[in-house]
Amino acid sequence: MFRRELPSLEHHSGGLLLRMGEEGLIAPGDHAGVLVEVAQWPDNVEPLGFWHDQPVALSLEAGDERWLPAREWLAHLPGSQSVIVSTALQIATWQRDHRFCGRCGTAMQRIESEFAMQCMTCGHRNYPRISPCIITLVTFGEDLLLARSPRFPPGRYSTLAGFIEPGESAEDAVRREVFEEVGVHVGRIAFYRSQSWPFPHSLMLGFFAEAASRRIAIDGVEIADAAWYSPRHLPQLPPPYSISRELIETHLKAVGNR
Ligand SMILES: [Zn+2]
Repeated sequence: MFRRELPSLEHHSGGLLLRMGEEGLIAPGDHAGVLVEVAQWPDNVEPLGFWHDQPVALSLEAGDERWLPAREWLAHLPGSQSVIVSTALQIATWQRDHRFCGRCGTAMQRIESEFAMQCMTCGHRNYPRISPCIITLVTFGEDLLLARSPRFPPGRYSTLAGFIEPGESAEDAVRREVFEEVGVHVGRIAFYRSQSWPFPHSLMLGFFAEAASRRIAIDGVEIADAAWYSPRHLPQLPPPYSISRELIETHLKAVGNR
C-alpha cells in the first residue's frame, strides 16, 4: 500500500525508485511493476512516499525506447501501484511548471517536508495544482447519453466531463456542463466516487445524473456527436481503468445488462 509521508533523504539513501523520462514515459521496474529496488538513490531524486513501508522516490531521466507511456502503465498495472504513477506524473509536472514565484518571479526553493515550494524573497508558497473536474453519466431510464469529443480515437464515445469553475459547486458544474455540451437539463444527480487523472492534474468527481428529457442539442465545439444508447447497443467505450467506464459499467449492472 502507498503511504503519503515523504521519506527524508537524510535517513534513506536508497529504496524503491520510479524512473520517469520525457513526456511521462516510465521505465519497467521489478515484478511487472514500475518500481525498482536500488541500494543507492541517484542524485536529485524526489521523495514520493512509502510503498509497503519502503521509501519511494522519483527520478527524472532521459529515458529510452523500452519505456512505456503512463497511460499504458495505468491500463495494465495492478491497481494499487497506479496511485504512485499518478502521484509521480503530477509531481514531475509541478516541478517543471512552478520553478519561479508566480508573485515576484524569484526562483523557488523546494521545502523538503512536504510537496511545497517557497519563495525566499516574498514568502509566497506554491503547492502541486489539482484541478477538480466533474465527469457524469447522464441516463434516461436504462438508456445512456454518450458523447464524443473531436480528440477521441475514431468510434469512441464516453461520458460528459468538464472543469469546475472558481466559485462553483461540483453539483452546479454537473448541471452546467451537461446543458452546455448537449442541451439537456438534469434532475436528480448522485455522487459516485472520485479518481485522480494525472493528465496533467485533474481530480475527476464522478456523478450519475438523470435527464429530464431526451432531446439533445450538441454544442459542436467540445462535443462532435452525442446520442442516447440502449444498454444492448453500445458504441466503443473508454478504457476499463477510467472512471468514465466505471460509471457506465455500474449503470449497466444496475439495469441488469452486465
Ligand atoms: Zn516571490
